[in-house]
Amino acid sequence: MARYIGNKCKLCRREGMKLFLKGQRCFTDKCALSRRDYPPGMHAQRRSKVTDYGLHLREKQKLKRIYGLYERQFRLVFQEASRSKGNTGETMLSLLERRLDNVVLASGFALSRNHARQMINHGHFAVNERKCDIASVQVKPGDVVSVRGREKSRKAVSLAVEVNKSQTIPDWLDVTAADFKVRIAGMPRREHVPHPIQEQLIVEICSK
Ligand code: SF4
Repeated sequence: MARYIGNKCKLCRREGMKLFLKGQRCFTDKCALSRRDYPPGMHAQRRSKVTDYGLHLREKQKLKRIYGLYERQFRLVFQEASRSKGNTGETMLSLLERRLDNVVLASGFALSRNHARQMINHGHFAVNERKCDIASVQVKPGDVVSVRGREKSRKAVSLAVEVNKSQTIPDWLDVTAADFKVRIAGMPRREHVPHPIQEQLIVEICSK
């Protein structure tokens, strides 16, 4: 799967908010946004007023960058959300929250989203006791995500759990760190999405 390998802090500076793409560094004063709180680029500080279209676009870009998706991957998620019953924006967020890489990150089993993806790709995780190396897999209530029994898998996750021990875990995830397991206790609701996203703006721009 394609992934962004450029400067991640530039993405935060472009969006004017912390997207938390670099794990613990984002919580320290080394965060680039706390030192350069303006968009990247030579003339970016002189940019004129943002248009209505620009506002919608930035919201969509923000969401894609938080969850590490390119346009094509994001469109697939949006199409699935539009086909489902209920509020499209909330369904879209629920689909993103239920991606395996997000579950691994939200459970405190990885240091950042990229780290979560890398560990999944390297085969460190299983879903319902079957090895799963696809980060975009959707989990559902009742599923159990576990770290595979290999020593190197457990070592990598133990390190992340130790670093993330003060992290708040959402109540739709039932994490037993000692057993290296996460049970999906329910569906993520809108209030579980930890990012300040205006999903209605995204639905409007994607529905045109
Ligand atoms: Fe964004 Fe700051 Fe983290 Fe860089 S360190 S990715 S600017 S939140």
